[in-house]
Amino acid sequence: MPRRARSFFSLLTLVLCAAAIALWVRSFWGTDYLQLSSPAKSDGDIITHHTHGIAWTRGDIRLSYAEHAFFAHTAQPTSDGTGHSTWTWGRLGAGHMGSDPLPVNSMWNRLGFHTYQWGEVSSFYDITEQGVALPAWLPVVIFGLLFCPWVIRRLRVRRRVAKGLCRICGYDLCASPGRCPECGTAAPSGDTVIPIRGV
Ligand SMILES: [Zn+2]
Repeated sequence: MPRRARSFFSLLTLVLCAAAIALWVRSFWGTDYLQLSSPAKSDGDIITHHTHGIAWTRGDIRLSYAEHAFFAHTAQPTSDGTGHSTWTWGRLGAGHMGSDPLPVNSMWNRLGFHTYQWGEVSSFYDITEQGVALPAWLPVVIFGLLFCPWVIRRLRVRRRVAKGLCRICGYDLCASPGRCPECGTAAPSGDTVIPIRGV
């Protein structure tokens, strides 16, 4: 991978890691969500939407599929009135409907992996939702691991420069401090360090 692309990829993983940490921490005080709601059948007085969503709740990332059936005389919070699919996103406060802790029945549950479903029936809407939940720390670890090679490369370059070695190939530059005779890399001024020799 070219150096510039590698740097961009590293920066991207760092930004995504920071975003994953922020969403993870925020999930303990509320829910950040993004969902796509599509109108389904309109059956007389009942208007149904299918909703795919992702939400950060209670340290979990919940990927869900829900069916919302509203009776036509009520407001339709997920419809824009045009019959098109609509994206919605935002944040809900702690304790909202559907934010209950997921039951813990197995080791996988304790680690934060779940499948779940719940529903709510009322006089003006029915909701059924099913989904899978992953621990919200998982993307933090994944993006952190993807960022690690950049940190390791930086540390290796520092160590080589401090020892008076070529930053790219590690060749000893004592005899040719301006440019590496092995790979041709020019040593920026400031990079050339005279190693301390024992007496
Ligand atoms: Zn070199």
